Amino acid sequence: MGIIIKSSEEIAAMRKAGGIVARILQRLVSQIRPGMRTRELDNMCLEELSKYGAQSSFKGYRGFPAHICTSVNDEVVHGIPGERTLCEGDVVSIDVGVIYDGFQGDAAITVGVGEISPEARRLLKVTEDALLAGIAAAKDNARLGDVSAAIQRCVEAGGFSVVREYTGHGIGRDMHEEPQIPNFGTSGRGPLLRKGMTLAIEPMVNSGGWSTRLSDDQWTVTTADGSLSAHFEHTVAVTDGGPEILTMM
Ligand code: MG
Repeated sequence: MGIIIKSSEEIAAMRKAGGIVARILQRLVSQIRPGMRTRELDNMCLEELSKYGAQSSFKGYRGFPAHICTSVNDEVVHGIPGERTLCEGDVVSIDVGVIYDGFQGDAAITVGVGEISPEARRLLKVTEDALLAGIAAAKDNARLGDVSAAIQRCVEAGGFSVVREYTGHGIGRDMHEEPQIPNFGTSGRGPLLRKGMTLAIEPMVNSGGWSTRLSDDQWTVTTADGSLSAHFEHTVAVTDGGPEILTMM
């Protein structure tokens, strides 16, 4: 199918979907406390979705059973909200995808539950910084490899490792469009970025080694070595005026 270039009207529609994602994430993050079950976050998301007249991108996607992904501690991505109780010192990634008026928005944030260790705090900071570095490289006439390399550089300078088996993705009317966006790579390589491209950039970063394992539920991805993992994501449009974050909180 190739990379789909969006018109300014289509980007305006994606800005609306992205705005809903941002407001839902903000609400969920504000409610996180030790002792709550991850299912409560999923329920809150459903409430918010109906308020906005939006749908979850994830619910039913290849049979995914929930509206959001919640990935705790050594869980990298795609964790299923359920009976798990969040404990003081945990880190939890919340990934929200919505469909509104035919367009998708997708973003994720990782936050601490109560007080977290200095090393966990540093992991979150480096992962968020890596996302911002990747976004800054998403300019008209740049190469996709510039985005990947900027992320990898930031993560590895922080002493952490980039997950290899999962990537970001183009996004628009579909949640997953071309191109795949690896979080590692070489500047100056890969597809040319043009204005009108819309990208979900999402570094997944482990405090230990980069390899991952798929859990028995066939969804939850964990670090192979049990180390902590973090995940930040924004939906971004490449524009004349530089990268625009469509899911800005
Ligand atoms: Mg995504």
